[in-house]
Amino acid sequence: MGVTQILVLAACAAVVGSIAYIVVKVRRASRMLFGTADILKGISQREQEEATTPKSVSGMTSLMLPKIHEDFPGFNWTEWKHRCENTVRGYLEAIEQQDTKSFTEASSELKRQADLQISDDRERKLHRHFDEITVYQTEITNYTKGEGLCTILVQSSVGYVCTIDGQEEPAVKDKREQHRFDIEIVYVQDLSKVGAHATSFGMNCRNCGAPITDLGAVRCPYCGEALEPVNIRVWHINKLTERA
Ligand SMILES: [Zn+2]
Repeated sequence: MGVTQILVLAACAAVVGSIAYIVVKVRRASRMLFGTADILKGISQREQEEATTPKSVSGMTSLMLPKIHEDFPGFNWTEWKHRCENTVRGYLEAIEQQDTKSFTEASSELKRQADLQISDDRERKLHRHFDEITVYQTEITNYTKGEGLCTILVQSSVGYVCTIDGQEEPAVKDKREQHRFDIEIVYVQDLSKVGAHATSFGMNCRNCGAPITDLGAVRCPYCGEALEPVNIRVWHINKLTERA
């Protein structure tokens, strides 16, 4: 046996050895992560767990609430917590009914967001039904005091069973899902000072979707649509976004 053959054999042995090593590692990792050596079975178990375990919310309520009360002594968190939860339910109901008329809690921006989702569903010929909606937890995650604008960020952990009637996609039946929603509550103190931050405020024309940078504007500068005036000096829910 020549030196070259010995080297080749040694290389082969090394490859086989490392593959065996990797397999052992993967099985060990799978057992640690999923409690079973079968990684595929582990992943499907994990998916099932995820569907039934509420998403955790990074609650900062006890830290943020005193700061909010320093600036707004009358801010009633219990009441706003209910409003946030009602808004999530109202949003889901509007999507199900494919109509935002009864979504009365919503700001015009929030209605626009719901309308976008509804028209997207209609285009794809999808009809979503939300059942057994449960709000598990709602917490304040942040409070910022900007120029002319104060913002409270709230997060809600929500579970529901979503059924989709669709012509293009097969119907998904009775699958419990866990979601997390970010809700933005804003207080506009001074419109003229918010001007430069208007894009972060996230106001768009209801008709053409153009971003409105001048919050004091009466009409959309692009299409001329009448704009709803921004509520000043009152807390209101501005945005609702689903967190991935
Ligand atoms: Zn417009």
